[in-house]
Amino acid sequence: MSDRIPFHRPDIGEEEIDAVTTVMRSSWLTTGNECRQFEAEFAALVGTQHAVALSSCTAALHLALEATGCKRGDIVLVPTFTFAATAEVVTYFGATPVLVDCERDTLNLDVAAAGRTMAELEAGRPVGGVVATGRVHAIMPMHYGGQMVDVDAVSALAQRHRLRVIEDAAHALPAAARSATGKWRSVGTTAEQTCFSFYANKTITTGEGGMLVTDDEALAARARHMSLHGLSNDAWKRFSAGGSWDYQILSAGFKYNLTDIAAALGRQQLRKAAILAAARERIASRYAELLGDVAEVELPSVRADRRHAWHLYALRLRLERLTIDRNDFIEELGRSGIGTSVHWRPLHQHPYYKERFAYEPSDFPVANAQWERLISLPIFPSMSDAEIEQVAHAVRVIARKHARARSH
Ligand SMILES: *Cc1c(COP(=O)(O)O)cnc(C)c1O
Repeated sequence: MSDRIPFHRPDIGEEEIDAVTTVMRSSWLTTGNECRQFEAEFAALVGTQHAVALSSCTAALHLALEATGCKRGDIVLVPTFTFAATAEVVTYFGATPVLVDCERDTLNLDVAAAGRTMAELEAGRPVGGVVATGRVHAIMPMHYGGQMVDVDAVSALAQRHRLRVIEDAAHALPAAARSATGKWRSVGTTAEQTCFSFYANKTITTGEGGMLVTDDEALAARARHMSLHGLSNDAWKRFSAGGSWDYQILSAGFKYNLTDIAAALGRQQLRKAAILAAARERIASRYAELLGDVAEVELPSVRADRRHAWHLYALRLRLERLTIDRNDFIEELGRSGIGTSVHWRPLHQHPYYKERFAYEPSDFPVANAQWERLISLPIFPSMSDAEIEQVAHAVRVIARKHARARSH
């Protein structure tokens, strides 16, 4: 009997441990030189002017919206198929998240559906019970599983309706999309602001952490300022040589800075980002080889004009070919020693969104149909060939065991 395969296993090497202990033995633990270096290296990797290291992607999303001047009464378009964070930050301002359905193949925000939502709102008709009284301020697409949204379509929609764009790239380092002109563009360079996560199971990790990137100096400066209580002068500047003890509170800010301990870990992870991405890519191709002929499952679809970060490997069950449902399938995988997850129950199916809004199932036909079929398989860089085969074998055995007899 083989060992249990967890949904995720972190990939922390001696380099990370050494880097962290070096900071711990130094005289500076919190935001300082390691953070500044991490920011510079991150900005260089994605190809952006500015990067602000923060305590989480949620903090980055919050500060990105704050920097655009989001205010009470605004509406922000958010995919229903995303993690809690993307929409919750909108509510921090007394603004309203309006949810949009996803694409059948990529599970990313459906930009055409967002266009229809804009038309409804602009005509003064309710969407999910929300009637636009203020402006529609921004759109926050998310790159599902590490495959980028149709960024050209998002830009076109945003230009047409004068929307600010903040990308939730929590899954998508490194990733790229090719535009109509044939040019490959890295994640981080396709929107005004982009937010990354270094949560424990993301493609690179600092335990907890995030990064906001932008080419706009004013937005970066605002986010940096608000990340540390809105002070005129951060602690690193105050306590370093030539620094002054004095500071003034210029804004009512937040406490969202990253520690140097975390940044040191992040710098080592960043150096390995390409290697870790290649390992994920290899696992995805191996799954495709091993599961391609299992008629009861549908494999993730990859568009030719995308470079996928493979944060997730989201299998979809062909429920019409099975006698069991997704939850039973997950239970059987669990009994076979395979850890899995589901990304996600769509936001509109959670109690908070059900109680606050008045969406109908017909508002989200794609998300409603797809989420019931989803199972995220383990995909982490240190998976061995034997482990990949064990997962694929378990999927095959369960699918065959519960396959519906086919009529001809
Ligand atoms: C993980 C995740 C976040 C939140 O990241 P944190 O760093 O934990 O705040 C936001 N959006 C998506 C899509 C995520 O998967």
